Amino acid sequence: MFHRVALVTGASRGIGREIAQSLCKSNYDIIVASPEVENNEAVAESIRACGGRAMTLNLDVSSQDSVKEGVSAALKEMGRIDVLVNNAGITRDALAMRMKPADWNLVLQINLTGAFYVAQAVMPAMMKERWGRIINITSVVGEMGNPGQANYVASKAGLIGLTKCLAKELASRNITVNAIAPGFIETDMTAVLPQDVKDQMLATIPLKRFGRPSDIANAVKFLASEDANYITGTVIKVNGGMYM
Ligand code: NAP
Repeated sequence: MFHRVALVTGASRGIGREIAQSLCKSNYDIIVASPEVENNEAVAESIRACGGRAMTLNLDVSSQDSVKEGVSAALKEMGRIDVLVNNAGITRDALAMRMKPADWNLVLQINLTGAFYVAQAVMPAMMKERWGRIINITSVVGEMGNPGQANYVASKAGLIGLTKCLAKELASRNITVNAIAPGFIETDMTAVLPQDVKDQMLATIPLKRFGRPSDIANAVKFLASEDANYITGTVIKVNGGMYM
């Protein structure tokens, strides 16, 4: 059976791991990409156990050299990249007045510039195939703002702009580019938040629960599928109604 190949950044844990495992169940082969060798290998093993081909890439999206080398190695081993999920992301929170330039730069470099580097690297292969899907994981706060996250919010809002620009540039080659804006999802990233912050957030969610990584993976699966072939340049909110 023909399997499409998906490259998922930040696939070692959290939302990225769930996306990789969920795409595998829908018959995609997976390139598991994140900086840590051991974590990638565990996820790749789970993909093989579910019947897919998997390769690991020790990829730091903030380094263009790492991205170029990684994508070229992936194309060599897997033969194609049909779907890119730009999921890698970090936070370094502080009020803007006290935010260190290094933390501003690091978050922008990984969350926004990194997504651009990987998209740019996979474009030629997708253009050649005249088929492709680029799915950028942004955030609810990229649309609504959030105190203490100037760097993260700017990176996620930038990702929405990048999504729309690439959607227009790549449409003629049958490559769609969309974003998913998760609300509050239970992962390592949100586990570190104080309980009172979590309680305040929960009170703002009409569906009265935090999101699960599978809620995001389901939206990715849809955007990657043929069913979504007339959707490009859009942002799908997956946030329990937290921001409409
Ligand atoms: P997470 O559990 O903290 O996982 C982050 C992933 O990104 C890890 O696999 C990490 O690899 C990887 N990563 C970090 N720096 C990287 C780099 N330089 N190059 C490549 N990979 C890198 O985060 P998550 O909650 O699953 O979030 C996934 C995405 O969803 C992020 O873009 C995040 O901003 C977005 N999001 C999350 C939420 C939420 O509530 N959780 C809400 C909205 C949006 P290591 O394991 O090696 O560190």
